[in-house]
This record gives sequence, C-alpha cells and structure tokens, in this order.
Amino acid sequence: METKEVVIFLKVAEPFSWGFMQDFINFVDHLKKHDISIDHAYNCITQGKEDRIRAFKEHAKILAQFKKKYCPICGKELDLIRVNNKPSRMVGEGYKTQWYCPNVRNCSYEFYSKKTMREWMNELKHVKER
Ligand SMILES: [Zn+2]
Repeated sequence: METKEVVIFLKVAEPFSWGFMQDFINFVDHLKKHDISIDHAYNCITQGKEDRIRAFKEHAKILAQFKKKYCPICGKELDLIRVNNKPSRMVGEGYKTQWYCPNVRNCSYEFYSKKTMREWMNELKHVKER
C-alpha cells in the first residue's frame, strides 16, 4: 500500500482514537473468523438497536399502567425486583420482592416484601374502566 493512501486514510479516520481503531481491528478480525461481513454486522447492529428501542418503549407503556412508589428518603421513583428467585438474589426469610431506590450512591433505601410481583401489580394497577 502506498504511503499516500495511508495518509489519506488517517486524515479520514482522524476523529477516532487509536484505541478505537485497535478495537475496530479486533472486531473485524473476530468477524472474519466467524465468516461475517462488515455489511452483515452493520445491519445486525442497527436492527438490534431498533429492537432495543422498541422493547424500551413497550416497557415504558406497560409501566405507565401502574401507580408509582417513591423513596421515602430522597423522593426518587422506586424500582421493584423479584428476590429469592435466583442465586444472585437470595435474601431469605420468604421475601418475594424488593423495592429499592435507584439513587444507590446517595440513598440506597430498600424494602423487602412477601408480596409477589403479581400482587404488587394488581395493587398498583390504575383503575381505568368505570
Ligand atoms: Zn432514595
């Protein structure tokens, strides 16, 4: 390859760091090993992004059907998760769910409950029909 071509390429690639380009090389080598073209990777990545955005919007639509609970300490909207349902979430004592404050750095309020996710959802569902 001619030096002139390299210089032109480097000018075009200027906005990207050497670290990024090294990651790119590693990524392309990996794709080649699995016989995947750059075009195919591009299409899959952009499709994956759209799918994630769609899933996020669906999730937001579902969440909008429920009344929110707020942290009694800092006022942030609480998140609800299942507990005692997998090895990384064992808390014992028959608890089924945990409300926690996402403001973990400054607050970290949490509340364990023996109600199931379904029971909380029934309790917090907005009453629409009349
Ligand atoms: Zn809080």
